[in-house]
Amino acid sequence: MIEETRPANDMRYQGGAFHPDLESGKASGTVRISPAGVCFDSPNGRFELPLEGLQVALGGANDRLVFFTHPDRPDAAIHTADHSVLKHPVLAARPELTAQVGRVQSRQRHARVLVLSVIAALIALIAGVVLAKDRIVESLANSIPTQWEVSLGNTLFEQMIRNEREVTDPDLTARLRKITDPLVNGINDSRYPFQFHIIEDPTVNAFAIPGGHVVIHSGLLLAADTPEEVAGVLAHEIAHITRRHGFRSLISSLGLYQVLQMFVGDATSLLAVLANNGAFLLDLKFSRDFEREADAVGWEYLLRANIDPGGMVEFFKTLEAEEKKTLGGLPGGTEKTLSLVSTHPATLERRHTLESKLRRLDRDGAAFHKFDLNYDSFKAGLRSKLHSAPEGTE
Ligand SMILES: [Zn+2]
Repeated sequence: MIEETRPANDMRYQGGAFHPDLESGKASGTVRISPAGVCFDSPNGRFELPLEGLQVALGGANDRLVFFTHPDRPDAAIHTADHSVLKHPVLAARPELTAQVGRVQSRQRHARVLVLSVIAALIALIAGVVLAKDRIVESLANSIPTQWEVSLGNTLFEQMIRNEREVTDPDLTARLRKITDPLVNGINDSRYPFQFHIIEDPTVNAFAIPGGHVVIHSGLLLAADTPEEVAGVLAHEIAHITRRHGFRSLISSLGLYQVLQMFVGDATSLLAVLANNGAFLLDLKFSRDFEREADAVGWEYLLRANIDPGGMVEFFKTLEAEEKKTLGGLPGGTEKTLSLVSTHPATLERRHTLESKLRRLDRDGAAFHKFDLNYDSFKAGLRSKLHSAPEGTE
């Protein structure tokens, strides 16, 4: 913009020209505007287009160049990428040119407005899709036929249980049903055939497989003190199943493009993706939002089954006590024994949320379900069936 401080006649713009007299018909050089006309200068030659009858237009890629032509010289053209040439006082002083320049500038403005509108529309579209992704994911997950989900869950469970030691003692599983039957009957969700399995593992953990299988580690059952605590954990796990958190996590982990493609496409591609990612569904770490949702839905399930939700809160305290115990114990065992705490982030925040819910509940007036189970004797029975003595669960 140094040129603008010079006298108008001296203003030079970098540019180029087409002319038959120039070597190879074109050249790069400088463009100058004078009262006589538009002048092109280059080492290969110079020529001028008279101001009288001069035509101004935009051309080149994206209308990047300003072109000067003249009807008397149809084989010649001068151009510059410097659009400030349009503000040159000589051009501005000629009404017929100003009109042309005005048209050129309004075309530029329109082009700019158009580009900006397209960009704004794209940004709005992307933002909308990103915001709507959770809803799209949920509606995709809800479009999966439950029967299909149940049979995939059965396959996944069979794959998983092959590497585990399941406690199948009929007396123990019958006693576990004293906890699970009232819960499942109370929830009364006929979509899923819930099945509960105990596996021999000292880790304080439980997890849900899409379709209805809930796997409980022996370590969790031994760490709990009451059937209400176990019911609290199981209600949470059941909520992961009914809210289809496994499928929703898997679908969310895919790129936005693939999600949209599945959303507009038929169900086969979605089901193929889910079926091919069984390992993902078996080794899930749910998001904080899904954990909060499982707490809230699980809480409602407990109330629906008339089970004291205080057990859910108590189990969080058990977890925290377990955490302290493990931290004071062998450093090697820390990571494994804490897996429930670490896979369920922000445990403390979740406990506080449930505690404030519990305070609002009129528990004194409530006659909660009394489990027909001696929990200590159940634990003793379980302990006697384990192959190795569990650590730190006394
Ligand atoms: Zn969970």
